[in-house]
Amino acid sequence: MEKQSSELEQKLRDVEYNYKTIEENICEAALKSGRKREDIIFLAATKTVAPDVINHAIACGLRYIGENRVQELLSKYDEYDLARCDLQFIGHLQSNKVRQIIDKVSLIQSVDSVKLANEVARQAKLHNKIQDILIEVNIGNEESKSGVDAEKLEELLYNASQIEGIKVRGLMTIPPICEEKPEICKYFENMHRLFIDISGKKIDNISMDYLSMGMSDDYREAIMCGANMVRVGSALFGKRFYKEC
Ligand SMILES: *Cc1c(COP(=O)(O)O)cnc(C)c1O
Repeated sequence: MEKQSSELEQKLRDVEYNYKTIEENICEAALKSGRKREDIIFLAATKTVAPDVINHAIACGLRYIGENRVQELLSKYDEYDLARCDLQFIGHLQSNKVRQIIDKVSLIQSVDSVKLANEVARQAKLHNKIQDILIEVNIGNEESKSGVDAEKLEELLYNASQIEGIKVRGLMTIPPICEEKPEICKYFENMHRLFIDISGKKIDNISMDYLSMGMSDDYREAIMCGANMVRVGSALFGKRFYKEC
């Protein structure tokens, strides 16, 4: 028992240290890209992380968390300190699971089809809410990834703009894994260009408030390329250990 509790204490100290470091890095990247710290949202990707540890990060100042599996979100839901923190959904979402999270999340970052948008809207209406969403873009055109291809984005946005019950608030992406920073920056820049182009089109019911991109290894670069929301997991919580399921 004693060993366990001191391990947890060490873990919490690490999270606190990491939190401060990431905050400083975000602040620096924000300033370097001509913005203020408050202009950037630091969302923690909390998959596999125990609620105790997440709540410690919230006590340190964290204000946004994102889960990417429905089952995991539900199993942890009652334990999150949501009085001080906003819960979002950032993972691949199947239409038949939307109803399980619709009343629990402020933003669904991963809508990539009309079918999913319609189901989110349908469930939102049942709960008398308008669900904020981001459209996930497959900026690297990867076969294996979810997200809409860049060429199909505009069509999806026009369709989404007609759907009552949802509000598109911006774009999200997970770029291909890149060995080199300049390579990943190219994807971030392409996303930023789409974000700006679409803002300029002033489509009804579509606002480009959030550009969600950048993870532990590249959130600084993403901010430099225009991201205003980063999703950081392992740099805050340490390496993930997946349980077989
Ligand atoms: C896990 C995850 C992240 C964070 O990944 P890290 O590399 O650990 O920072 C960001 N976005 C999504 C959608 C994720 O699932």
